[in-house]
Amino acid sequence: MVIGLLPKVFSQLAGTKDVWCWKATSNGKYSTKSAYACIEEQRERSVQVLLIKNHLVKVWGAAAPQKAKVGAWRALRNRLPTCDNLKRRNIPLDEVDAVCSACFHHNESVNHLLLKCPKTEMVWVEIHRWIGISTAQPQLINMHFESFINLGTGKENEKFLTALWICTVWQLWKKRNECRFDGKGWEPKNLNKDFEGHSFGFDAFLKKCEC
Ligand SMILES: [Zn+2]
Repeated sequence: MVIGLLPKVFSQLAGTKDVWCWKATSNGKYSTKSAYACIEEQRERSVQVLLIKNHLVKVWGAAAPQKAKVGAWRALRNRLPTCDNLKRRNIPLDEVDAVCSACFHHNESVNHLLLKCPKTEMVWVEIHRWIGISTAQPQLINMHFESFINLGTGKENEKFLTALWICTVWQLWKKRNECRFDGKGWEPKNLNKDFEGHSFGFDAFLKKCEC
């Protein structure tokens, strides 16, 4: 069948001349600006790929429960079944269901649910207070992870902060599911209590994350 079409294609091409075309502009003409934009775009893509690979190694190598690592990795890749992701997959949702179940004000996305929601923000503020470092918090999940695990100096601090970030994200996701499916509410101060109350608090918190 394809072979049968070839004469038609060749007859249409007959008499046309090959021309060079610059694909980076809509008019097909080369410009230094578009070439620079192409290089930048590729550079950004390579940085993103490197960042993702780097995060993959950090998450899977972390001293955190496996379930929490899977959850955190899905969050970093925007693969959690948040409402915006479900909509993107054409799964029908009521307007009410699409709203964040913690604040009932914003559409639910990974960045909102785990970073920007007022309740979630309070959790992060409290965690920063607890570890004794106060800093501006990025509003994108990958940037947040990158910034958080580098809050301290040295490998040991990084290991601790990586596990803490993973477990916090996992706990936030679990709280979201309890809210959404079991009708349970939650308060940031209660989640933060999970970190404290022991000399260091983290061992107990890790145990909670195993459930
Ligand atoms: Zn919210």
